[in-house]
Amino acid sequence: MTKPYADREIWFLTGSQGLYGEDTLRQVAEQSQEIARVLGEQLPANLVWKPVLTSSDAIRRVALEANADDAVIGVVVWMHTFSPAKMWIAGLDALRTPLLHLHTQANVELPWDTIDFDFMNLNQAAHGDREFGYVATRLAAPRKTVAGHVSNPAVTASVATWVRACAGWAATHELRLARFGDNMRDVAVTEGDKTEAELRFGVSVNTWGVNDLVAAVDRVPDADVDALVTEYEDLYDVAPELRLGGERHESLRDGARQEVGLRALLESLGAMAFTTSFEDLGALRQLPGLAVQRLMADGYGFGAEGDWKTAILVRAAKVMGAGLPGGASLMEDYTYDLTPGAERILGAHMLEVCPSLTTSRPSLEVHPLGIGGKDDPVRLVFSTDPGVGVVVSLADMRERFRLTANVVDVVAPSAPLPHLPVARAVWEPRPDFRTSAEAWLTAGGAHHTVLTTAVGIEVFEDFAEIARTELLVIDESTTRRGFRDQVRWNQVFYRVAQGL
Ligand code: MN
Repeated sequence: MTKPYADREIWFLTGSQGLYGEDTLRQVAEQSQEIARVLGEQLPANLVWKPVLTSSDAIRRVALEANADDAVIGVVVWMHTFSPAKMWIAGLDALRTPLLHLHTQANVELPWDTIDFDFMNLNQAAHGDREFGYVATRLAAPRKTVAGHVSNPAVTASVATWVRACAGWAATHELRLARFGDNMRDVAVTEGDKTEAELRFGVSVNTWGVNDLVAAVDRVPDADVDALVTEYEDLYDVAPELRLGGERHESLRDGARQEVGLRALLESLGAMAFTTSFEDLGALRQLPGLAVQRLMADGYGFGAEGDWKTAILVRAAKVMGAGLPGGASLMEDYTYDLTPGAERILGAHMLEVCPSLTTSRPSLEVHPLGIGGKDDPVRLVFSTDPGVGVVVSLADMRERFRLTANVVDVVAPSAPLPHLPVARAVWEPRPDFRTSAEAWLTAGGAHHTVLTTAVGIEVFEDFAEIARTELLVIDESTTRRGFRDQVRWNQVFYRVAQGL
């Protein structure tokens, strides 16, 4: 398979001890290399096998090496034999790299006819991994545990999902996020603690004056605008009024100029995520719509109205879904179809929905925008492809962050939407509209989300575990009573778990 994280490494660590003698340890090494080879073929990053670990010092040393190497985004551990777990205490205590405990063994079937005690000595992960699990739990080491033989596709898929979460985690730690303008005035949920975000997710969030963006847009040479307009004509169904010679062609050129200027400024800042604010556009001629949509399609995180927290989620979802079909975008629960038994949510935004959500050819249009007091903005219009998706929000609960996620089924719109001038997604939330909406409101989930159709809920569960951040999941197993209780219990758990 092609590896979307080819420049990243996952280290494969095998636990054992010196008690068994050289012969057994040689077999342990051979068999664990074979396990690593089979597993590695199914992972989106490079799996690197490390020599078998038999001492506390060696384990601590490899943990420190993993921490120090930026290419290493995760560590998989497996106790092939019995690795007395006190020797893992110093290493686990030092380890800062995301951890996955793979509970497997070399053989699939037991050799019932030939099994002797030599075989038992060599193949004892069944209790060797239990010994490791005890110490990892006693140390409260955040980790994912995956059990089963590596020839089982469900096992390798679960490890591969965790690798994607590790890549997302690495990406937020490399992320610089540029805000142009502040949050929309008086909005609560888009606020948050940017200092805590840097500690928790590693992301650096800072603000630039919109004048910096205006200057960058003004600097764009006409030739660059010409070239981009030609690209638009190739890629999209451009409305006749926007085409060369059309009466509103200048609006398209303004949009192209914004894209070039915004892209150049973000590149100069080293920023892979950004926010805008329709209340703070300075001398920009129109609210950036098309430019934002196309930057999101190139992997940038984005949040509207100064919503930097959702911009982090969009960027993380982009990285975690790398190379997979589907896409990720800023989304907003906008309005409902409450037909009994067929309730649907229409999600959209003023302009800024990422075209990675569709395989169809978007149309490029210009329409008035009732707020902001600027020129009519250009935007791509399309409907999101049907399929399973997840919407996720990030809210600041005062002393911690909370992720809330809902598994949804994106569907084709119930009818054509000839007068809706924005890109959109229509979905049916699981388990049903009423449970989903009541749970979301109980959780205090935001109205801005990332909608991803590239990855499922499991990658967000893994990401939350790595980030030691609360995640409330609304899916087919959610009940209103159970969810309400979970919210209450989590209030206690997360306050106690993070200490003072
Ligand atoms: Mn909004």
